[in-house]
Amino acid sequence: MKRHNFSAGPCVLPKAVIEKASQAVLDYDNGLSLIEISHRSKAFVDVMEKARTLALELLGLEGKGYKALFLQGGASTQFLMVALNLLEKRAGYLNTGTWSTKAIKEAKIFDDIYEVASSESAGFNYIPKGYDIPENYDYFHCTSNNTIFGTQMKTFPDAPIPMVCDMSSDIFSRTLDFTKFDLIYAGAQKNLGPAGTTLVVVREDILGKVSRKIPSMMDYKTHISKGSMFNTPPVFAVYTSMLTLEWLKNKGGIAAIEEENEKKARLMYSELDLNPLFKGYAVKEDRSYMNATFTLENENLKETFDTMWKEAGINGLNGHRSVGGYRASMYNALTLESVQVLVEVMSELERKA
Ligand SMILES: *Cc1c(COP(=O)(O)O)cnc(C)c1O
Repeated sequence: MKRHNFSAGPCVLPKAVIEKASQAVLDYDNGLSLIEISHRSKAFVDVMEKARTLALELLGLEGKGYKALFLQGGASTQFLMVALNLLEKRAGYLNTGTWSTKAIKEAKIFDDIYEVASSESAGFNYIPKGYDIPENYDYFHCTSNNTIFGTQMKTFPDAPIPMVCDMSSDIFSRTLDFTKFDLIYAGAQKNLGPAGTTLVVVREDILGKVSRKIPSMMDYKTHISKGSMFNTPPVFAVYTSMLTLEWLKNKGGIAAIEEENEKKARLMYSELDLNPLFKGYAVKEDRSYMNATFTLENENLKETFDTMWKEAGINGLNGHRSVGGYRASMYNALTLESVQVLVEVMSELERKA
């Protein structure tokens, strides 16, 4: 049966990428597996360099003072690493969901955090707007796409201080002026590769300004000076991410995938709006193009609907355990055809009910 993987993360990757990565596990360098060769070998050093270069190139940040790093510990480690490296007195955080709440909690361990705005009281179903970012703060932190609640920042403030963004679930999915950001991080397992590596893109000149001592592994400067090879890197995750970046470049880059992502999202949301059996969770203007969250108006239809989508080959449609309902994650590698299958199941339910 053909599968349609709507999983929120780890998630669908391009088939060609999975095939090539599998082959590399079997034989990468004259009979040796990718996962048994030295990370210092030319074969792998080239991979790491290519991955870093492609990331900057696709984001339009080459030659602009940025460095790309592939680190470990997931986006969750970035919650504390950002604070360790940038937080001297006080930072401003925009609280738009579970992940930003976790980022705030970690940063509070180190110093004072100010929530510039929060949508918590509305169950994080919208993105706050019109807030001020004090210019005497060390940095401003936001989350571009709220994977769990299905909201997405469509515009970003002109921050008078360094802007840090958790782009774990929508990096490389849409064109943005990435020079607006001073530090971007993203766990690979949403739009990039398997779990195990985190992409960090940082403008070098914002580093080295805090007075605290930073442990080597937590210091961005360590990883910059060692080209993401201070310790053994997760070779399989980096290689697979590199393949996805190549795949994206060959497709025409972010602008090309953005067009596909818009088509998928339009199809999904028009069904949600037209079908009286379903209700979207996020307010319309802030709807995420990556994760569409919705519920059934009538819970009695749950069993029927669940059976129908499973029979259609759909996987990973259940909402996050903290929100319930459904979540259709439409990352870069999910095809329009998969969304058509889901939308067909939703309208079939309407015909039946
Ligand atoms: C998934 C996710 C995270 C957590 O990533 P890990 O790599 O599991 O630590 C953080 N932020 C956002 C926006 C996410 O979607």
